[in-house]
This record gives sequence, C-alpha cells and structure tokens, in this order.
Amino acid sequence: MIIDAHMHLPVGYPDFESKKAKLLSDMKSDNIDIGIVISDSELTSEIGSMDDCVELFAANCSNVFVAAGISPHINCKEQLLKLRKHLAEGRVIAIKVYCGHEPIYIDEEALKPVFEVASEFCVPVLFHSGWDNAQFASPDRVRTAALAYPTLRLVCCHCFYPEIELCLETLKSLPNVYFDLSSVADDPSYIPTIKATLEKFIPQMPDRFVFGSDYDCCDRKPHIDLCTSLDIPKEFKKMLFCSNAQRLYNI
Ligand SMILES: [Zn+2]
Repeated sequence: MIIDAHMHLPVGYPDFESKKAKLLSDMKSDNIDIGIVISDSELTSEIGSMDDCVELFAANCSNVFVAAGISPHINCKEQLLKLRKHLAEGRVIAIKVYCGHEPIYIDEEALKPVFEVASEFCVPVLFHSGWDNAQFASPDRVRTAALAYPTLRLVCCHCFYPEIELCLETLKSLPNVYFDLSSVADDPSYIPTIKATLEKFIPQMPDRFVFGSDYDCCDRKPHIDLCTSLDIPKEFKKMLFCSNAQRLYNI
C-alpha cells in the first residue's frame, strides 16, 4: 500500500472537476491507494484554495484527504475561522504554510495563531522548505519553531532540498519534526547523493519519514523509484510508504 502524502491538483485543466478526475485517474495508474491533496493559501488558485479542495474531496472521496494551506498575510482571521470549522468537522487533516513561496519565516510570531489552532486540533503543520528563498525555513529556524512548540508536529516538506543532509543532521534530535520526501527526486543528477543520505538517516529515525511526490508539480514515478530503491530494512520502507503517514495524519 502506498500513501502519497503530498499532492496538488494538476494545472492546465478547465475546471476543478476535471482536475480532480485527472488526479484520481493518475493515482490509480500509479498504484497510489491513499493521497493527501494540499491546497494553496491563496483564495483563488490553480491548485485550489482550502474551500475548493474541501468541497472537491472531503465529503465524497474516501481515499483523498485535505491539508489546508493558510497564510498569516492572506485574509488570515476569516481563513482561520473557516479552518477551525473544517477541522472540527474532520474535513481537513493538516495545515500547510508556504515559507519561501511567501515571505514567512517558520519561527516568526505571525504563525502563532496557526500553530495554536493546529495544537488545539492535534493536526500537523506542513511547511515548504528548500528550493528558492530557502532562508525562510532554514534548519536552524525550524529547530527554533520545533523547540518553541514541542507538542506540535511539524512536517518539513522537501527536506530543505537539495541540502537534505544538513536538514536531517540539524533536525534529527527534535522528535516532533517529520520529513516529507516530496520533490527530492526532481533532478536525476542529485538522486545518488540523496539516496545515500536517506539510507544513512532513515534507520536513525524510521518513524519520521513520509513518502510524497509533489504531484503534479513533480513526476511521481522517480519518487516511487527512489524510495523503492533504498537499501533499508523492509519494515522501514513500509513505514515510509504507508504507516508513518497513517499515524502522523491519523488516517
Ligand atoms: Zn507541494
């Protein structure tokens, strides 16, 4: 069984229903049993806002769950109210903040209301890391946030790609930080190094990695291939592909 814990609605389709149909048919052809679709923090977006994704999946799709994007800079008070309602009704299973896509530092005060809602409803907070503008969620800042909210589970999407080793080394001592491997297999030239890094760190904390692809921004196949190819004990691979996400997201 495979859970893709990091997907977005595909772009380039005329409406949300056709995006949803494409996402579901690609899940089927890629043998993905369960997926988490992550909304944008914007109110209108090609990949869907929180409300768009909730409306598309929450009530009528038993194998796709919604993580809601939110921003302290975009209509935050109203969005937080909506988010609380969705969380209370079980229509959202996690929250995402786009550090780096937006000028938000992971350890800044403005995220306090978001972290408080996540803590209240016991859901994890995912955050973008690495790639461009990586300073907004640098491993040191993640450490500061994780220490300030020791009971909040933080999910480091992309593991500060491409500096995955630095990320894992800096954050391995923080048990409330999890690692989502989405987008790490984007560039074939980095894959051998990333494979070796994961083979070093997964056995040190096998319960803290989840499989994700960043569909449809990235190809899913190289991500499945990378994780399948890892030279780690079978039980750790099962945790990576499935049981860690089940436990982390309570699905
Ligand atoms: Zn993503």
